[in-house]
Amino acid sequence: MPERILVVGGGLAGTAAAIAARRQGAEVTIVEKSRFPRHKVCGEFLSPRVVEILDSLGMAAPFFTREPALMRRVILNFAGREKRFSLPSPAYGLSRFELDELMLSSARTFGATVLSERPADEFPRTILANGRTQSAPKGNRLFGFKAHFTGEANDAVELYFFGEGYVGVNPVEGGMTNVCGLAPESVMRAHGFDSDSLIASVPALRERLGSMRRQMDWLRVGPVIFANRFAETPPAGEYRAGDALSFVDPFTGSGMLGALLSGRAAGLAAARGQAADQYQSEMQRELGRSFGISRIIRWGLRKPWAPWAAQALSGRLLFAATRP
Ligand SMILES: Cc1cc2nc3c(=O)[nH]c(=O)nc-3n(C[C@H](O)[C@H](O)[C@H](O)COP(=O)(O)OP(=O)(O)OC[C@H]3O[C@@H](n4cnc5c(N)ncnc54)[C@H](O)[C@@H]3O)c2cc1C
Repeated sequence: MPERILVVGGGLAGTAAAIAARRQGAEVTIVEKSRFPRHKVCGEFLSPRVVEILDSLGMAAPFFTREPALMRRVILNFAGREKRFSLPSPAYGLSRFELDELMLSSARTFGATVLSERPADEFPRTILANGRTQSAPKGNRLFGFKAHFTGEANDAVELYFFGEGYVGVNPVEGGMTNVCGLAPESVMRAHGFDSDSLIASVPALRERLGSMRRQMDWLRVGPVIFANRFAETPPAGEYRAGDALSFVDPFTGSGMLGALLSGRAAGLAAARGQAADQYQSEMQRELGRSFGISRIIRWGLRKPWAPWAAQALSGRLLFAATRP
């Protein structure tokens, strides 16, 4: 008898899980509450290794038909002081509007049923891929924002750090540039939650985006909570994947890689009847180290010595250390 699996959340982790499980012959039902396609607050920077994961799911060729932008360089900007390095292999920029729709429609093509509400039936195995925790007490919470721009696009992912926040600028498909930031509540409030005003207050960013035109209203999310549940014992038959398992600071641009990787592993584990706690320990071994290093670097980025430390350290080493 094939396994019957319910996947809660049809984002990247949920769809990777569904496709992996379908390829093992499992019966898969996805419940996704949002209507796709939809824009989503995200830097839309895909680590080079995503292609390997997509390929193993039979999704590399469809991914390239969406013509993601290529990125070969990284530019880190600390109040005008820059660190530049080239990537070991190209990274990709594809909007979540395109990518998430591609993954969900492909999961359907692979034979998964997609529902907008949780069905009443009992499922012996559930993959929890419903994204990150979203509630936190008021105070110094973090908020994310994003919009697409037209204008000079290049082949770099640029990160502009200011105080406890930062803004990423990188190309996506169709010659568009994605601008996505994360800032503490106090900073957002000081700018009346107006992202244009915040950008105008950071000279290097103001200069970079000065000749560009915003193509959509700013989208905003928050609060953004960093959390990991590796150490929690999951209930029997519940496989947590993507941000629902661990949400790392997005400056690394490795969240989507982690979501695809853990989603695929959760789908395989559930379809093969592997115990959920064993799957989770494997994920902790695979993701825990790079996510832990990312947390330490995030802490360091807030220190006044961050620009000097960034100059001294190898960019490629930092890049490799912050992704699985
Ligand atoms: C500001 C910001 C910038 C980022 N930039 C990058 C980047 O550049 N590169 C990168 O790799 N990562 C980035 N990330 C991280 C990345 O967005 C996430 O790691 C990734 O989206 C996780 O995928 P997921 O499938 O786990 O969750 P999601 O993509 O959030 O998908 C979860 C899905 O579950 C659905 N859902 C939720 N609750 C329910 C429910 N009860 N029933 C049914 N459906 C439900 C939601 O509608 C959603 O579609 C960024 C994150 C933020 C906040």
